[in-house]
Amino acid sequence: RNNRRVLEYHSDIERLNAPFLAIYESLIPTEEEKAKQKRLLTSLEKLVNKEWPSARLFLYGSCANSFGVSNSDIDVCLEIEDSDISKSEILLKLADMLHSDNLQNVQALTRARVPIVKLMDPDTGISCDICINNVLAVVNTKLLRDYAQIDARLRQLAFIVKHWAKKRRVNETYQGTLSSYAYVLMCIHFLQTRKPAILPCLQVEMHATYTVTVDDIECAYFDRVEDLRDFGSRNIESIAQLVWAFFDYWAYRHDYANAVISVRTGSIISKRAKDWTRRIGNDRHLICIEDPFEVSHDLGRVVDKHSIKTLREEFERAAHIMQFDPDPCVKLFEPY
Ligand code: ATP
Ligand code: MG
Repeated sequence: RNNRRVLEYHSDIERLNAPFLAIYESLIPTEEEKAKQKRLLTSLEKLVNKEWPSARLFLYGSCANSFGVSNSDIDVCLEIEDSDISKSEILLKLADMLHSDNLQNVQALTRARVPIVKLMDPDTGISCDICINNVLAVVNTKLLRDYAQIDARLRQLAFIVKHWAKKRRVNETYQGTLSSYAYVLMCIHFLQTRKPAILPCLQVEMHATYTVTVDDIECAYFDRVEDLRDFGSRNIESIAQLVWAFFDYWAYRHDYANAVISVRTGSIISKRAKDWTRRIGNDRHLICIEDPFEVSHDLGRVVDKHSIKTLREEFERAAHIMQFDPDPCVKLFEPY
């Protein structure tokens, strides 16, 4: 019986490639939107340089990691020499300047985990968060962008998973579900562990061609990804098969009790090896996703005993739809 189901899935699933690819294409930001973002960044940098001439602005997050869908907010990092003035003071000063320059909804969130200034540019309608000296986020942005260049299926899968997560409201860290960054890492790890592999492991398995040290963390990996363009070609799985298998994995195959997914090693490691077996403070480790650079950081730590249930039910719902629904592309993304 099981065999028959597998056969049916193989013959039937391919008809979903076109609709999934159409959804992916519809989510890609236009060149015009990208150009607008760049212009906003340039004008913000000019403004900032009036006060701090050597400061620089970097885009990070989904507008720079190639996993951004159209009309996303942009994430900006202000790199500024350590001076006598504190981060909060910089943020408040920055908020003042932005406000005087006619930017809208300017708000300094100095007590957030990552303190930021929020703003909206009335000319373009683009919303923007500016953080200070968050170099690690700029580096993990580059890692994600580099992975995306190796095999086109990563970007396709991640767009579909992010789109699903937003529609089903399981992309809300303040509600105990996962960040976009966590979902992209889940997709990378999933493709690293296909047989044959679709993505390599750029960190521990390859020699470093890019190294920076940020806050005492050495970030090193192979970044000459143009040399890896046909790495995944021995695996011919289609996007529809991968979406099916991704949800099947998180619904039925992942070992939530013992396993940690690790993009850094390209493999599963054990909770025991990381000492993530007990609740410490608010870290419950109910779904474990190792940050590729801050290895003591579990991106699943936001998940609590209620939200883990929500998440797993959503994975099961998605897996079930992929397996049995006659029109999965509609049902999968139905708003929660
Ligand atoms: P979205 O399209 O949903 O905005 P995003 O990738 O921009 O996706 P954000 O939640 O806005 O996701 O996070 C922005 C960036 O901040 C991430 O791409 C990542 O570089 C960094 N980041 C976010 N959360 C974490 C985290 N928990 N640990 C380390 N870096 C993080
Ligand atoms: Mg973002």
